[in-house]
Amino acid sequence: MWCTGSPLRSVITPRYITNAGFNLRTTVADVIDQNGNWKWPQAWFDLFPVLITISVPNLDSNAEDRLVWKDVDGKPGDFKSAQVWNTIRSQEHHAPWANMVWFSQCIPRHAFHMWLAFRNKLKTQDRMAVWEAGSQTNLNLMCCPLCNYDRDSRDHLFFQCNFSAQVWNKVKAMVNLTNVDTTWSSILNWVEQHSRSKSVDHIVSKLVIAAASYYIWQERNNRLSTNSKRTVDQVAEMVKGSVRLRLMSFRFRASSAKERIFKAWQICNDDVVDPG
Ligand SMILES: [Zn+2]
Repeated sequence: MWCTGSPLRSVITPRYITNAGFNLRTTVADVIDQNGNWKWPQAWFDLFPVLITISVPNLDSNAEDRLVWKDVDGKPGDFKSAQVWNTIRSQEHHAPWANMVWFSQCIPRHAFHMWLAFRNKLKTQDRMAVWEAGSQTNLNLMCCPLCNYDRDSRDHLFFQCNFSAQVWNKVKAMVNLTNVDTTWSSILNWVEQHSRSKSVDHIVSKLVIAAASYYIWQERNNRLSTNSKRTVDQVAEMVKGSVRLRLMSFRFRASSAKERIFKAWQICNDDVVDPG
C-alpha cells in the first residue's frame, strides 16, 4: 500500500501521463528515481494537489507484487468470505431489541413474530386503515376481535387490550416480570435492560414475552377468520405449554437452576428426553 488515492490514473488523464513520458502500464518503481524522488513533472503538483500528500514508498526491489485484501475499514488481512460479505452488504445499526428477537434458545416462529412486532409490521387494523382508504364502511366495522373495543394496534394487543392484559398477567406471574406492566413501552424498557443477559431467568422471561404475544396474535387472527374463541385461561395455558416444552430441551449450566425452573414450571424430570 503506497497510496490511498490510487489508481492515480483516475485523477490524472492519459494525455498528461503520456505527455510526461509515462504510459498506462507504468509501475510505481518506474516513477521513482535512483535518489528516491518522484520522477513526475513539478507542474503535476499544482495540477493534481493530491500528489503532494503521497510520500515516496521504500520499495524492496526483490519483492514480488501481490494483491492484498482490505476490510471495510481499510485494514489489510487474509481473504475471508465473511469479511467480504461484511464489506459489500448494506449495514444498519444494531436494533436495541435484536437480542430479544434472536437468541439461541428462542422458538423460531415466535422470534419471527416478535421481529414483525418490534418493527410494527403486523397487519393490525390501525395500519390496514391507512392502506384501505376506499372502503370506509368496512373500516368503521373494524374492531379488536378480542375485546370488541376500537381498532386494534400493536400497542393495544401487547398488552393494553382487556383480553391480552389478562393473559399477560397470568403468564408473567410465572417469571420475574413484575415491573413490566401492560404497555409496549414498558416491555421495550425491560428489553433494553435485560435482553442481552445470559441469565437463565432473563432467557425464560424472553420466551414468555415472545410466546404471549405470539398466542395472543394467533387468537386474534383465529377470531377474525373463524368463529372459534378461546378463553383467557386457554390462551394462557398455550403460552405456558410452549415455554414448558422449550424448557424441557434446555441445556442448563447449573443443576440448581434447572431444579428451580422445573419446579416453577411444574416439569417432572421423567417428562424430559435428554437431548445429549
Ligand atoms: Zn382488544
